[in-house]
Amino acid sequence: MSLTFTTQESPLVSHTDLLNAIAPSDASRPILDPATGEVVAAAPVHTLADLEAAVASARLVQPEWAALGHAERSAYLMRAADAVDAAAEGLAELLSREQGKPLNGPNARFEVGACAAWLRATASFELEPEVLVDDDGGRAELHYRPLGVVGAIGPWNWPMMISIWQLAPALRMGNTVVMKPSEYTPLSVLALAAVLNQALPAGVLHVVSGGRDVGEALAGHADIDKVMFTGSTATGKAIIRSSADTVKRLTLELGGNDAGIVLPDADPAGIAEDLFWGAFINTGQTCAALKRLYVHEDIYDAVVDALAGVANAMPMGVGLDENNVLGPLQNQAQFTIVADLVQAAKDAGARIVTGGNPASGQPGYFYPATLVADIENDNPLVAQEQFGPALPIIRYSTVDEAVAMANALDVGLGASVWSSNKDAALAVAARIEAGSVWINKHGAIDPRVPFGGAKQSGYGLEFGVEGLKALGTPQVLSY
Ligand code: NAD
Repeated sequence: MSLTFTTQESPLVSHTDLLNAIAPSDASRPILDPATGEVVAAAPVHTLADLEAAVASARLVQPEWAALGHAERSAYLMRAADAVDAAAEGLAELLSREQGKPLNGPNARFEVGACAAWLRATASFELEPEVLVDDDGGRAELHYRPLGVVGAIGPWNWPMMISIWQLAPALRMGNTVVMKPSEYTPLSVLALAAVLNQALPAGVLHVVSGGRDVGEALAGHADIDKVMFTGSTATGKAIIRSSADTVKRLTLELGGNDAGIVLPDADPAGIAEDLFWGAFINTGQTCAALKRLYVHEDIYDAVVDALAGVANAMPMGVGLDENNVLGPLQNQAQFTIVADLVQAAKDAGARIVTGGNPASGQPGYFYPATLVADIENDNPLVAQEQFGPALPIIRYSTVDEAVAMANALDVGLGASVWSSNKDAALAVAARIEAGSVWINKHGAIDPRVPFGGAKQSGYGLEFGVEGLKALGTPQVLSY
């Protein structure tokens, strides 16, 4: 057989084109806009039988896709990036309506732009065989061969961008892909895949829009060679268990509770806006967002005041309104988690500097940007992942104390240190147990720079050449 294309009458560009392209024919359920409660569209409800068909199709075309080689597969990824660019506005609109994030700010348009950027970067990396030994006794080389069929299971917070993080290196390395999007944001992933599939050969990329049962079956499937998973630590542990019998390769990007440490020499007014976006990007629904802020007592009040000034100036509302940069929580369950954690902080006597009081009787899961000061380190708002727009700010007296508090949890995705003295900041960074530590910024990711968690935030690296290696099976050739 040879690779074929799904013919499209005209390129998918607008929001309406995208909805038509993903309209379900069999079982479906309505997806509601988290900002308004209105129906966005119906999403297909795929079954275990659909999963079987997708895996079989991906398996069938995989050898031919692998045989194309890196250069040709990279060319496909470049064309897929062009297709994303052409449909960017329609994708951003759909993402905003389904996920809730505004078009503007570091939100929907930014996410779609990142999809194209990550595709291009992933297509451009060089992965040469490593020569391990080359002497009179012989030569040994390390190669990375395709794994086969990769399963990709994703969350609802950055549904398009995280899908690209999973599928782009998988395809580049000669694997085919079966994706299982979050049940909260299937339309975004289905639409993105429809756009990508205009540029890719038929069968190399599938989306099975099912529930947790489909995710579990994918993680245990005998014909899936690796699972790329991004989501909660609890689900990550379930996937480890489901995948054990087939000794499946796993990349696990799990939950975080990132600490930021502000040293006494930092400039409160100078860092306030970057601190704010470190914590409140995507209205706080970001894996590597700043989720607990430790500030030295000498500048504690000044940092809290400066942050409040920024928070109070940021418009929140319906995503399609061009003015807004903060949106709703994506779903009722997440709204309840945030509201309960802020209530726990209030009950313990912490000070609500701003926010903390959602409007009742209005549509949408809007929770205002909330800063909580004078809070103890063992409060649930500090110790648990809030995954929403509520930042606890903890006072400390010595750097040792701040580092101990930052390292006290069993997760370690990202962290940051804020200071006017780079060397002092780097010395503190080296003591923090986290996969990435940023200086005077938080959550800044780059397709060339590996990203992954420490402790129970997961294992395996994404992005860059390290990320490509994670989608290959190492093979040593000795001769
Ligand atoms: P979740 O774990 O509830 O769901 C993620 C996905 O797993 C969904 O598609 C879901 O259907 C699927 N799933 C659920 N149970 C499963 C099972 N038993 N087997 C297989 N699949 C199953 O996560 P979420 O609520 O969608 O996302 C929020 C969490 O994700 C937060 O903890 C956040 O920190 C984390 N996250 C981490 C990163 C990262 O890069 N480390 C990025 C984004 C989100």
